[in-house]
Amino acid sequence: MATAPSADRARREDLPPELDDPLYRTAVGQFDQALERAEVQPGVAEVLRFPERALAVGIPVRMDDGLLSVFPGYRVQHSSVLGPTKGGIRYDKGVTLGECAALAMWMTWKCALLGLPYGGAKGGVRCDPRSLSMDERERLTRRFTSELLPIIGPQRDIPAPDMATDEQTMAWMMDTYSMQVGHAVPEIVTGKPLSVGGSVLRPEATGIGVVMVVDETVHRLGWSLEGAACVVQGYGKVGAVAAHELARKGARVVAVSDIGGGIFDPQGLNLAAIDAWRNEHGELTGFGGHEPSNSELLELECDVLVLAATEDVLTGENAPRVAARLVAEGANGPTSLEADAVLAERGIPVLPDILTNAGGVAVSYFEWVQDIQRLFWGPDEIRGRLGDLMRTALARVWTLAEEERLSLRRAALVTSIREVAAALDARGIYP
Ligand code: NAD
Repeated sequence: MATAPSADRARREDLPPELDDPLYRTAVGQFDQALERAEVQPGVAEVLRFPERALAVGIPVRMDDGLLSVFPGYRVQHSSVLGPTKGGIRYDKGVTLGECAALAMWMTWKCALLGLPYGGAKGGVRCDPRSLSMDERERLTRRFTSELLPIIGPQRDIPAPDMATDEQTMAWMMDTYSMQVGHAVPEIVTGKPLSVGGSVLRPEATGIGVVMVVDETVHRLGWSLEGAACVVQGYGKVGAVAAHELARKGARVVAVSDIGGGIFDPQGLNLAAIDAWRNEHGELTGFGGHEPSNSELLELECDVLVLAATEDVLTGENAPRVAARLVAEGANGPTSLEADAVLAERGIPVLPDILTNAGGVAVSYFEWVQDIQRLFWGPDEIRGRLGDLMRTALARVWTLAEEERLSLRRAALVTSIREVAAALDARGIYP
């Protein structure tokens, strides 16, 4: 089925040129679509279409060969109306200001949907993370953090890991910030190692949350994960945990992939063997067996397709060939608006990113709360609290979707926008 470019993607001429990016147009297009049902005052809506603040920096780094490289870096804060802003830092070749603006806007909706006292932010550095040595990464991270100092803080903006950043990156950020203020400030970032104030279950939280939402959804749809065939694109921090959680629930994980391609076995994959291979070789390629490309993997027949790699992987072009009963967005923005329309027409429900991958920011919130009170919780307490938040958010979305006959994405956005708009309305515009 051919699809025309969606009229719902925000028009280029309506957006500030410095933010223009396909992902930002998608985020604003989704926002505009949801506004039709959110019943928000036009002035309030206009405030929420744009980020509050954006910072662009050049990050000079002395490379291992002694030469200097300068990397562009960004931090965008979308809305601080509900509290400090919160969002990941990614290292990727595709990072742009507009991409960060889109991801920051989605973070605002995600936090509001879960009832967290945060607004959304996102940042990143445009670089090829795979080409950086450990020492280069450290110098890049520390210099980027010092460039961000004027706008971050435990009550202002709290970074976290995202694509190609990890616990070590957060430890360097926490140390750089702490050195500036003269004492340890663990609550400046989340996703840290346990040794410096991290939270148990934070590394696994996004993947665990994805499967909590999938599990609850399949029950609501009248089937179960027991024996269900699952495909996971992106065997990284989110996807690998999601794959293991699916297997724990009795599902058959039949295919996984990383950027180099996939592994497929209709009988179900041996995830422990895949982990061992990946730990030794740093990638999935070469594991053996049937190795589909990423685009073939997206079209495999399955019950649940988990998208946990990157944005815009389902498009108007390939969505007609998706052969899953349910699509779950572990990644941010993996389904274009065109693909969304095609999947809706074909009756394939899509669990939207702002709901499905919100487990990460939920446990980040728990980490921040624990750091502030210097009192730490155990894994059972965190899993329990996470389950409560994820199931409550899904129930809110499900009910609104049924009541107002909306897609799950539209229902999630409408719920979030109403929350943030009500707070903005109550606070009013300064001065
Ligand atoms: P990651 O870097 O740990 O893993 C990403 C995985 O996807 C890797 O296996 C990588 O090889 C693969 N990949 C990257 N580009 C690809 C492509 N073009 N095609 C196929 N595979 C590709 O990153 P992550 O933290 O797991 O994040 C994945 C997604 O989830 C991102 O969209 C991120 O914004 C989102 N997310 C992450 C978290 C978190 O807590 N880490 C929370 C919410 C959302």
